[in-house]
Amino acid sequence: MAGLYIHIPFCRSRCAYCDFYSTTREAEMATYVEALCQEIAARRQEIPHTRVRTIYIGGGTPSLLPTPLLRRILDCVWQHYEVEAEAEVTMEMNPDDSVEIAQLREVNRVSLGIQTFNDDLLRLIHRRHDSATAIRAVHTLQEAGISNISIDLIYGLPGQTMALWENDLDIAFSLGVQHLSAYALSYEQGTELTRWRNEGRVHEVPEELSVAMYERLCQRAREAGFEHYEISNFALPGFHSRHNSSYWTGAPYLGFGPGAHSYDGDRTRRANLPSLDLYLKEGKPEVEVLTEEALYDEAVMCGLRTARGVDLNRIADRFGQSRLNYLLRMAALHLQNGNLARDGQHLHLTTKSLMISDDIMSDLMAIES
Ligand code: SF4
Repeated sequence: MAGLYIHIPFCRSRCAYCDFYSTTREAEMATYVEALCQEIAARRQEIPHTRVRTIYIGGGTPSLLPTPLLRRILDCVWQHYEVEAEAEVTMEMNPDDSVEIAQLREVNRVSLGIQTFNDDLLRLIHRRHDSATAIRAVHTLQEAGISNISIDLIYGLPGQTMALWENDLDIAFSLGVQHLSAYALSYEQGTELTRWRNEGRVHEVPEELSVAMYERLCQRAREAGFEHYEISNFALPGFHSRHNSSYWTGAPYLGFGPGAHSYDGDRTRRANLPSLDLYLKEGKPEVEVLTEEALYDEAVMCGLRTARGVDLNRIADRFGQSRLNYLLRMAALHLQNGNLARDGQHLHLTTKSLMISDDIMSDLMAIES
């Protein structure tokens, strides 16, 4: 079983915090979709005899594409791949775009980039929608029969208080959505937000507040019946993102479009160049063959991101007993101080350590050979 990721690199404007590759050159959409369809068709041979279990159309802003172009992409996938009848097909949408979702019958999951329901904060980070538009977008999708809706939120925005975050959570959990992804704001290099911070025009929220917001999020999600199945992801039972979960379990996937990554499920990764111009000129992808150490690091990192944790049997089977011994040795102190817990043959983060997961992951990496 494999997953497909389809990248749509267009945005109407740039959000102040975003460092993803995207372009505002909407005039090139039709040309792009043709090139994309060629790549989708040509790479079928990379996963012969494999059925597709999940499809994720992400961006950028997929919902900026006119519906006929989205239709063209879906038709191309179904023409060239064997897609399971029950496949999860997700499309990212911005709340202010109007997609004729009824004409995209294959799409059965929508991920809405809402970020916050506070209009001042939305304006600050240069999102184009307001809170009322976001709420309306959820209702419109529900009325159109989409019964698997995810929303994205960001916490720790400049000037965001705990009361404002509580208000975001109140609205989020009142909307009847099935999935929530929530990320701490990070100041990425080269973004407007980082420049404003460096110029003293905005200020980072104190770390304690960011941690408290995360703890409140976890608690509110639990109370609303959501499972905390990955560091930043919460879902009602049965609504975990199957596509993202397969990234964390090492399943093969093909990524199409500029900047998209692919993985063969074994040791080869491929990254398309992150530029629309190079992509349209058929720029060669970068191919990386992962070492045993890199594969081990990835297995540990991906495992620790999930609620279940790292599967110790899988580590022993795939990397040998000595690597498992190494992992347990490096984990011993964290197990003692409660940052890690062992549940049978799984090693997982604890509530206390979720916010410092990067430090713990790096302690378990393969620095010893
Ligand atoms: S819409 Fe999404 S991808 Fe585009 S600039 Fe904003 S955050 Fe980045």
